[in-house]
Amino acid sequence: MSIFWKQFISSFLIIFLILFLFTFLVIGELKDYDKSLTKERLLTAATLVSEILEPSIDNGNPTEIQRLVSELGQKTGVRITVIGENGTVLGDSTRNPAEMDNHWDRPEVKEAIANDLGESSRYSETLQREMLYVAIPYRAYGNQVRAVIRTSLPLSFLQSSIHPVETKVIYLGGILAVVALLLSMALSKTLSSSLRGIINTSEELAKGNLDISIPVTNGKSEISKISTALNRMAQKLNELFKQLSKEKNQLEAVLSAMSEGVMVVSHEGRVIIINSALKKMFNLKDDPTRKQYWEILRNRELTKLVESVLEKWMPDSREIFYLYPDEKHYFVNVIPLDSPDKEVIVVMFDITDFKRLEKIKADFIANVSHELRTPLTAIKGYTETLEEEAYESPEDQKHFVRIIKRHTDRLINLVSDLLVLSEVESRDSLSKENSANDFEEININELIKSSLDALRSKAQEKGIEVSFRADTDVCRLKANRFLLEQMFINLIDNAVKYTPENGKVEVRTSRENSHILAEISDNGIGIPKEHLPRIFERFYRVDKTRSRNLGGTGLGLSIVKHIVIMHGGKVEVQSEEGKGSKFSITLPAQGSPGGGADKYSGK
Ligand code: ADP
Repeated sequence: MSIFWKQFISSFLIIFLILFLFTFLVIGELKDYDKSLTKERLLTAATLVSEILEPSIDNGNPTEIQRLVSELGQKTGVRITVIGENGTVLGDSTRNPAEMDNHWDRPEVKEAIANDLGESSRYSETLQREMLYVAIPYRAYGNQVRAVIRTSLPLSFLQSSIHPVETKVIYLGGILAVVALLLSMALSKTLSSSLRGIINTSEELAKGNLDISIPVTNGKSEISKISTALNRMAQKLNELFKQLSKEKNQLEAVLSAMSEGVMVVSHEGRVIIINSALKKMFNLKDDPTRKQYWEILRNRELTKLVESVLEKWMPDSREIFYLYPDEKHYFVNVIPLDSPDKEVIVVMFDITDFKRLEKIKADFIANVSHELRTPLTAIKGYTETLEEEAYESPEDQKHFVRIIKRHTDRLINLVSDLLVLSEVESRDSLSKENSANDFEEININELIKSSLDALRSKAQEKGIEVSFRADTDVCRLKANRFLLEQMFINLIDNAVKYTPENGKVEVRTSRENSHILAEISDNGIGIPKEHLPRIFERFYRVDKTRSRNLGGTGLGLSIVKHIVIMHGGKVEVQSEEGKGSKFSITLPAQGSPGGGADKYSGK
């Protein structure tokens, strides 16, 4: 049953019951009042009759009594009965006294004799109807009862006098009941609609719609107070949720901006929060929240780490290695969160690059030590031989000294290459502006010419023809002169080194829009395809012995690569085993492109 009907029926029933009782009581009171008025009237009539009949009773004249009684009865409309000392009816206004029986035993008569006033309402045998009787005694001298005067009216008279009033009261009650019905209907409607509003709002609040509010009409009623309180609650909740969602957004923004992988794991091992960096690290396409963390980050070490933190509730960290999907090293930090839900936060740092650099560093140190040890051991060995064994022949002595000199040259080459490399690498770690601090405007053609001059005699020794062709005059660029020259010397030196006698080496420059292209090609031994991707690595050599014998350090191309990158350019290599190699350097140029050519031969 709806609130409206419940409220309406209960309020209507209460009002109806009250009205009914009220009408009933009013009618009862009216009846009592009317009865007492009638009794009063009967008493007055009896007293009057008693006074009028006084002489007739004293004289004992029944005829006179009867005449007067009939006359007075007609005038007053009241039945009058006069009862003699022995109970004989002396006169009656409605009946013949002779036909009436002895009235001494009538209760009102007995009471009148005893108390001077008697009353009763009962069924009259004489008149065959319900009657109201009032009786008073008439006393002679000496207080002796000579007669009893009785007046009476039928009860139906009482009913007929009260009836119109009763009807009016009932009508009034009826009208009031209808008004009550309408009023309770209206009240119930107002109440039920207000309650429905509150219920609807509460339901909406429960669903999470916090922008809703109930219209408040009368500020003083309880319903209005509830509505106001509910509205205030909704407003507070709304503010709270807005604050919470703002904080959540901020947290999400921070998490998604982080390069470290972050994940919050519940005490049951379920993922509560995961940031985009971690999803990217493990290539997670679907939303992994609510899944078990070990399902998505499959790694036994990691699972052990998280489990131990969940068990001991102490922060812990470990380096973890992944083979799949890529070879990756992570530093994982697991911290218990100060929350009632017992959650832990897992932070994963990708340290793969750091590890790689560490390895490169370790390899580099091992390589340098190895490269240094070989010539030093040789020098030591030959020096000892010279010292201990007495070589008479100056030829032998010269031979050993030559070997010592060659190894010393190698050491010098190595140390100077290492110095250049360290210089270039230290510039690499500087910002672009700082590393370009000592750049000057250089004509690349002139620079190449001077590099070729430095190597001319070496090329001539091997009968190698070195040609230089500049396809453009507009070949200025901003660069570090010393390093750029070092770069060309390394490339041309390699070309000469790895080209057999009487071979050809060609250097060529040209302008391509905003860039200068420098190509160093030879028709030498070439580089096997599988070695090409690694020749720019430090100490990488296709043929170690050959390189050593030719005075190579394995650092030349690594230095070239660093210098090119430092100048904002790029280096490429094309090579075919047995046919020759071509190194192409592209560098950003100064000024606008132009034409012109000149040729240089190192031979
Ligand atoms: P190295 O001091 O040994 O020459 P580099 O770093 O300059 O070291 O070169 C690395 C390796 O690349 C060399 O050992 C050689 O095997 C190969 N290489 C470089 N330039 C040439 C070239 N022009 N022709 C053939 N092989 C070359």
